[in-house]
Amino acid sequence: MNNEKIWKSWNENIQHSYKKLHTITSEKELQQIIIASENIKIFGNKQSSADISAGADTLIDMRAYDKMLSIDKKNMRITVESGMRLSTLLEKLEDLGWCIPCLPDINTITVGGALATGTHGTSGSILAQYMCACHVVLADGTIEEVTEKDPLMDALRVAIGMLGVISEVTFQCQPSYQLHLKEGPEKDEQWLSEIKTNLKKHDFLRILWLPHTGSGYVIKGDKIDAATPVQTKLGPKYLKHRRTVSKFLYQYSHRFAWTTALANKILYRLFFSSKKEHKGSLYQATVTKSRGSTLELAEWTVALDRFPQVFAEIKSELNAWSNKSFVHIPMDVRFIKKDQSWLSYAYGQDTVTMGCVSRNAATADTYEAFETVERIFLKHGGRPHWGKRFQAKDAQLSKLYPKWEDFKILRKQMDPSNKFLNAYTTALLNENPEDYKTQRVAI
Ligand SMILES: Cc1cc2nc3c(=O)[nH]c(=O)nc-3n(C[C@H](O)[C@H](O)[C@H](O)COP(=O)(O)OP(=O)(O)OC[C@H]3O[C@@H](n4cnc5c(N)ncnc54)[C@H](O)[C@@H]3O)c2cc1C
Repeated sequence: MNNEKIWKSWNENIQHSYKKLHTITSEKELQQIIIASENIKIFGNKQSSADISAGADTLIDMRAYDKMLSIDKKNMRITVESGMRLSTLLEKLEDLGWCIPCLPDINTITVGGALATGTHGTSGSILAQYMCACHVVLADGTIEEVTEKDPLMDALRVAIGMLGVISEVTFQCQPSYQLHLKEGPEKDEQWLSEIKTNLKKHDFLRILWLPHTGSGYVIKGDKIDAATPVQTKLGPKYLKHRRTVSKFLYQYSHRFAWTTALANKILYRLFFSSKKEHKGSLYQATVTKSRGSTLELAEWTVALDRFPQVFAEIKSELNAWSNKSFVHIPMDVRFIKKDQSWLSYAYGQDTVTMGCVSRNAATADTYEAFETVERIFLKHGGRPHWGKRFQAKDAQLSKLYPKWEDFKILRKQMDPSNKFLNAYTTALLNENPEDYKTQRVAI
């Protein structure tokens, strides 16, 4: 009998053997396991497409470490354990009449996983920017309390699990609000030229770009008073089957890439050509609550001002029949406000993000669109999503992130024995312990 223990990511594209797997329910347990382990990886809901959550002998599953710890009504702050699912946190906030004003399109991920990879939504900041305090368990087991006033916070907010394990997290919340959302197709020329105007005019903007159709599906939202009546139009009932129909139409696209272009045109007619109107909280109205099947994701980000040029090149390559970079729809275009977190996509610049999805997770290695999109974004200084698929390593990343070298030095200071690295993150950093012996970064 084969007793090898195998860790598998959500879509099973990443698999690693391991020796010990711990499930923790307290900070104390977390601390003890970290002290006792030489090399360790922490995982949340295993929904990253990048190899950042396992590949070490000792693994910690954070998902049972998920209690609500305190609510500070006066200052609108909530403190939770980092293994809590986003759905649990967001439902609690809805009950309190509060919100985190920028949410990703997924609620099954854990708070710790979301923070570590710079998970984001649209028309606001990355989720980690709303963290105002936390506990971090360091490689030697020390628990450090960090607040937004500490310089370390800017390095810690997005750290891909490499600086320590975030245990308790406090979010600064805001009063909940209702959005009046209007959705519908727009020609590429129109939505592209109106991005800056729409970002000023609307509280919420998201564009699902539809290659091979010449159009995007544009979602605009405005904050309204909860009592304001809105005539709800949700389109035909069959719209809810979009993901299932997409999966069916793309089933042979890895063998006959060109069938993607036909599938996209059909999907556009069926699912993206009608207009919708509705209202709800940000969470109710914009976060997908259930997904029938897995997928593989890449996502790239670039400064807002450079996006039109990037888009022109992406469109011309992805729509061309002369290569095999046919891409499944939609390509999700979102917007994040500039911040100061060292490894944030929006470090120092207002940013546009563009998703790239393969609905056949198992054949993602042969999906040429991932390579094409990466090549074009890199050419324009684009930054990859840490939790998604990309090839770039230290040589490229050091040019994209002004604080990359500082992060590497700090990481070495905080984790001198490389306890929190696996093979993937070692390669990502081009880690060579000798390089860091004499360097210090002031924190
Ligand atoms: C269907 C789908 C939709 C998605 N939508 C979005 C989206 O809208 N926006 C977006 O930005 N991203 C999105 N993502 C990406 C996703 O948000 C990230 O990959 C996220 O990190 C996954 O969280 P997880 O709980 O599964 O963490 P995992 O994938 O298990 O772990 C991710 C990383 O976090 C580290 N980590 C986990 N917990 C801690 C902790 N407590 N302290 C320190 N490090 C920790 C792990 O070691 C690992 O390095 C989506 C992914 C999928 C599959």
